[in-house]
Amino acid sequence: MGEVMVDLRGIHKSFGTNEVLRGVDLEVRAGEVVVILGPSGSGKSTLLRTINHLEKVDRGYVSIDGDLVGYRRVGDKLHELREREVLKQRTHIGFVFQNFNLFPRLTVLENVVEAPISARRKAAPVARAEGRALLARVGLADKEDAYPRHLSGGQQQRVAIARALALEPKVLLFDEPTSALDPELVGEVLDVVKDLARSGTTMVVVTHEVGFAREVADTVVFMDGGLVVEQGPPGQVLDDPQHPRTRAFLSKVL
Ligand code: ADP
Ligand code: MG
Repeated sequence: MGEVMVDLRGIHKSFGTNEVLRGVDLEVRAGEVVVILGPSGSGKSTLLRTINHLEKVDRGYVSIDGDLVGYRRVGDKLHELREREVLKQRTHIGFVFQNFNLFPRLTVLENVVEAPISARRKAAPVARAEGRALLARVGLADKEDAYPRHLSGGQQQRVAIARALALEPKVLLFDEPTSALDPELVGEVLDVVKDLARSGTTMVVVTHEVGFAREVADTVVFMDGGLVVEQGPPGQVLDDPQHPRTRAFLSKVL
């Protein structure tokens, strides 16, 4: 495992009086696959969203590859970045959502090349060649001219993964990427994620797929009530959980 790629320190986040994250620390190293498990409402999505500043933290900080997200350090003071600069930082972090969030009016290939061309000013022919290679990688080489509505959920999610990869992110975040899929389509998406894991992609994956966590995770993090309750290698957290809340959760999902 390489250097620290994602560093979350003392993250606090409230929505009104609801304190959703209550002091979370998380470190993800280059090439590491971290799987976050935990009951619904425990703060998993909010935590993931703080990593790319989709949610602004109340306290604590996020840094990606040594750069503070949303802030710049000047001397010993932190200066908040303008929205434009935040958006630019965010392009280093890929995000795959539960509901795919593809652009419905763009073809599959257009979905994949949109950000590289508009956000990275990549030449269209180069972006298209790279986009085609990514579509081949997720098994959709023959679908480049299709529109999202003509694809299955599993295919749409694989396009979403190709689209996230097109910006060559330093880290790829997944928020329950298979929860919206029919059971028979879950495997094809998890296979793509496994392939990325094997090739050394740095990833944080929120999922309820414990089997996937066991097979792919370097580190399993169990969250409950806005806190990391327990973390460690899958063999430890899944097979020999120390905390009663981890045990209670696993006894329900296994
Ligand atoms: P999980 O992903 O683990 O199910 P979430 O991070 O989605 O948990 O939610 C944690 C808590 O934060 C829940 O009580 C949820 O209702 C609340 N919450 C999440 N997003 C918002 C928001 N934008 N506004 C208000 N409350 C929110
Ligand atoms: Mg969630």
